Amino acid sequence: MVKTSVLVRLRELGRAWRVLHIKHHAKLFKIGLSLNDKCTFCDSSKEELYHLFFECSHAQIFWKTFSSWWFELVKENITMTLKDIILGLLNRTDIINYLIILGKLSIWECRKAGIYPDFNIFLKK
Ligand SMILES: [Zn+2]
Repeated sequence: MVKTSVLVRLRELGRAWRVLHIKHHAKLFKIGLSLNDKCTFCDSSKEELYHLFFECSHAQIFWKTFSSWWFELVKENITMTLKDIILGLLNRTDIINYLIILGKLSIWECRKAGIYPDFNIFLKK
């Protein structure tokens, strides 16, 4: 039962991640479905996936909060790189990669809602 719900949740996250690859502003602008290609959060840089989830100052604040939260939880310092956020921590098999996916999903939900990345949305997941 628990295994099934985890698999369903992972499947949902996988679907959400595929959607992310299609709908960011730069991509929509390129195919004529968006009026501009600017980042929803900072409105200054091109909204590419690496910018939205890592480079943007608002995403950086989110991941710094994430790292602090992780440190409080397990007393481990982690520094999130672009590779870590996009691909996950490849040498890890614990829950951290699942939490990174939830972090990206939270950022995406904030982007869709037109609000800055809110760590409380992540905490509610
Ligand atoms: Zn930005």
